[in-house]
Amino acid sequence: MSAGDKLFGRLLNRHPPPSPVLPEPLRTHGFGLQLQLDAQGNVVHLTGPLRHLLAQQIPGAQAPHLLDFVLPHSSLSLEGAPADWQGQQLDLDFYSLNGTPLHLRGWVQPLADAWLLQLLDIGDLLLERRQARNREQCQLLAMQMAEQLRLCSLMRLPDVLAEQLQSLAQRFQIPCVALALLDEQEQGWQIHQHYAAFDAPQLWHNGQRLGTGLDSLSGSVPQHLSLREHPRLQATFGNADGFAVPYHDAQGVVAWLLCGFYPVQQRPPDISERDWLQVVAALAGPLLERLREHRHHLQLERLESLQALLGTGWWEVFSDSAEVQLAPSLASALNLVSARLPLSDWLDQVHPADREELRSRLQALQDESQALLLCVRLHRPDDALAPVWYRLQGQALGVGKNRRLVGFMLDISDIKNHEQQAEVAHARLDNLIARSPAVIYVQRYVEGALQPTFFSDSLLPLLGWTLADCSGAALVERVHPDDRNGYFERTRQLLREGSVSARYRLRDSRGDYHWLLDEARLLRDDLGLPVEAVGLWLDITEATLATEQVKQSEERYRILVEDSPAMICRYRPDLTLTFGNKPLASYLECPPEQLPGVNLGSWMSAEQRDAFTRRLNQLSPEFPVSTAEINLQLPGREHAWWVWSDRGVFDQQGRLLEIQAVGRDNTEVRRSQQQLTQSAKMATLGEMATGLAHEINQPLNVMRMAIVNVLKRLEKGDAQIDYLTDKLTRIDTQVQRAARVVDHMRVFGRRSEIEQHPFNPAQAIEGTLSLLAEGMRGKGVDLRVSEPGFEVQVRGHVDQLEQVLINLMVNARDALLGKRETDPAFKPWISLYVERDEQSVRLWVEDNGGGIDPRLLERIFEPFFTTKPVGVGTGLGLSVSYGIVENMGGRLSVRNSVEGARFCIELPIVQVD
Ligand code: ADP
Repeated sequence: MSAGDKLFGRLLNRHPPPSPVLPEPLRTHGFGLQLQLDAQGNVVHLTGPLRHLLAQQIPGAQAPHLLDFVLPHSSLSLEGAPADWQGQQLDLDFYSLNGTPLHLRGWVQPLADAWLLQLLDIGDLLLERRQARNREQCQLLAMQMAEQLRLCSLMRLPDVLAEQLQSLAQRFQIPCVALALLDEQEQGWQIHQHYAAFDAPQLWHNGQRLGTGLDSLSGSVPQHLSLREHPRLQATFGNADGFAVPYHDAQGVVAWLLCGFYPVQQRPPDISERDWLQVVAALAGPLLERLREHRHHLQLERLESLQALLGTGWWEVFSDSAEVQLAPSLASALNLVSARLPLSDWLDQVHPADREELRSRLQALQDESQALLLCVRLHRPDDALAPVWYRLQGQALGVGKNRRLVGFMLDISDIKNHEQQAEVAHARLDNLIARSPAVIYVQRYVEGALQPTFFSDSLLPLLGWTLADCSGAALVERVHPDDRNGYFERTRQLLREGSVSARYRLRDSRGDYHWLLDEARLLRDDLGLPVEAVGLWLDITEATLATEQVKQSEERYRILVEDSPAMICRYRPDLTLTFGNKPLASYLECPPEQLPGVNLGSWMSAEQRDAFTRRLNQLSPEFPVSTAEINLQLPGREHAWWVWSDRGVFDQQGRLLEIQAVGRDNTEVRRSQQQLTQSAKMATLGEMATGLAHEINQPLNVMRMAIVNVLKRLEKGDAQIDYLTDKLTRIDTQVQRAARVVDHMRVFGRRSEIEQHPFNPAQAIEGTLSLLAEGMRGKGVDLRVSEPGFEVQVRGHVDQLEQVLINLMVNARDALLGKRETDPAFKPWISLYVERDEQSVRLWVEDNGGGIDPRLLERIFEPFFTTKPVGVGTGLGLSVSYGIVENMGGRLSVRNSVEGARFCIELPIVQVD
């Protein structure tokens, strides 16, 4: 019997059982109980120490029967008389004085005249057997409980535990049972799961905190908790007695089975303390294991998800097999099929640029246990993608056989890429600053003065100085002497107002001055005291010089414009002047300063103004320039001709904002041209005198004939009214004809008008023929004139076009007549015809006079070029004609045809509405 059992027995209020009972041999009467019985089974005599414990059922009876001493169920073994019991083992339960039955076993032996029943106490034997049975049952229960807890799913674990507690409670009739576990934060005990019989009070609830009271109990054995002994636990056990069984593992007591309202002493459940411990161990052991497993599982899950989230994972290198094992999350992040792979395959994942370093660092970890920390890029086939960066950390754990190389890989692409971007941006910025014409500087405030403490790298390329060159008074010395006052004022203003913007010149290391724009700001500390000034020097030398140059060139242009002999002005599309130089002002006879606001159109006729604005409207951003000869009526002058060049200035939408114009007075040129034309005309007239005489002679001849005939009739007295009327009508027709010729000559001889007008060129043909036709025919020249089948308008002076046609025809006539002089059989002709197309009308004058010597073709339009004898030709006819046609916007040209010359007057058709 163990010490524990002894203690347990004592606690269960039992006496220690006697030494193992042996039925045989019993030689002394000093043991057990001896009953002497008569033949009927009456007790005659009692001996042996146990006799004092007996309680007789029917006390005081004379020679009581054996049945009076035993409990009713034992009477079954005592059928008949002692003689019948001989040779049988009798197990009898006797009434005892203390109430608990006395289990005795014995045999009947015959005596001389009686029977001797010798009995031994087998109470302990029975108890032990019962206990053994109980223990077996307990073990079975424990095994089942442990199995259930071990095999159930984690999800069902609480339910299964509750079921086990229930069966435990029912098995031992415990009203309230609970399992208390050490709290995870180890701040005390906590009810993990409880069960209460339906009629028992709710002593506990799941999750209830119990504090540290249970720690006061000894953790090695079950504890009976009486109120007296454990005041700290009174509240926990509802101020009633209880029972607590510990479970301990390597860490000590980690669980308690609490039994409430359960004084074990009073209701001994025939199970030993060891059984209790075993039952609780069967309950708490697997439970804690499962809970640990659960916690481990959660932790693993957390770790996995964390690894996946961070793009990280552990690795372990097995140097003996040259293999590496990766966390599953890491393997999948690296797109690896297997989480265990040859070391070389793992290294192949790394970019070639980083691979060798990693290999050597792993070697160092392997050989010298040198901790590994390295950032590597992954090798990706497509280099265009942003690189994936991993931070690799590793260490050697354990020693000898247990040595392991473990570490983790962490995806730091984000950080790395940002870092690189930041570095690039930084480098770019540095580069930019260094190359820019700006210098960033910091000046420290020392007792009212500002001392340079920092300059950006751009200082050297810009000014050729270093920070050391600018200390103390050196900086001030480099300020241009003329700007020094300004520089001191800049510092004062900076200190006074907190910021400043100044311009001054600084001398660079080569001695050249730079114009600098200095923008500075003063930084103060918490107390408002100046700490330092940060600022920026911007090299504005070029800008400053450029501005000056612009100013100078503006001045030059102003002078140029003012002094120019040409008229220069600017005006708005409505012709209001915004500027005009002196020459313009003098032509317009008003002081230059009064020109702005004056309308240019006020010197033009309505028609001139229309033509002028029409021309302006054709200006566009693509074709902004237009030149024309314009005609104005200036104060105090008859007419002025200006060659006028306009340039439009447009806004972004292509709207005309303003016009800049340059003009030259062309009046004199124009006048002499006109005079030339006029004299040429007069010359033509003179030349035509013969023809004209013929033109007028013709009607005169007709009239004379008519008059002679009339007079003859009158003499004969045969003058009928009808006859006379007929002759007088003929005379009248001829008078009109002559008058027309004379009229036309008068008109033709006049000076041309100043302004051009639209007219039908057929008019000019008609006028020409009226002057020349008769004369031509008189000279035997065949005139072939075809009537145009259309009407068009050209712009110019009808008399001038007529002059051109006369010139051409007279030249043709001269050529023809010249030819006939050598060949009297020659049949001269002049053909005049008109044709048109969309834009222009062409008047052709052709003859069969043999044409012009090809070598002279180019020269015949020159003024004073003539092949005619002196006094006959002037050499002006064609040159003036050329000028007239050109003035009408047309072109005069010549070509030799088969038989003679062919002149063409080409004129633009004008649309007249
Ligand atoms: P002019 O008639 O006074 O000589 P023009 O300028 O009219 O001056 O003519 C210049 C020259 O062109 C003439 O001298 C003549 O040689 C030549 N010419 C003009 N028209 C013809 C023509 N139809 N046939 C041959 N030559 C011509």
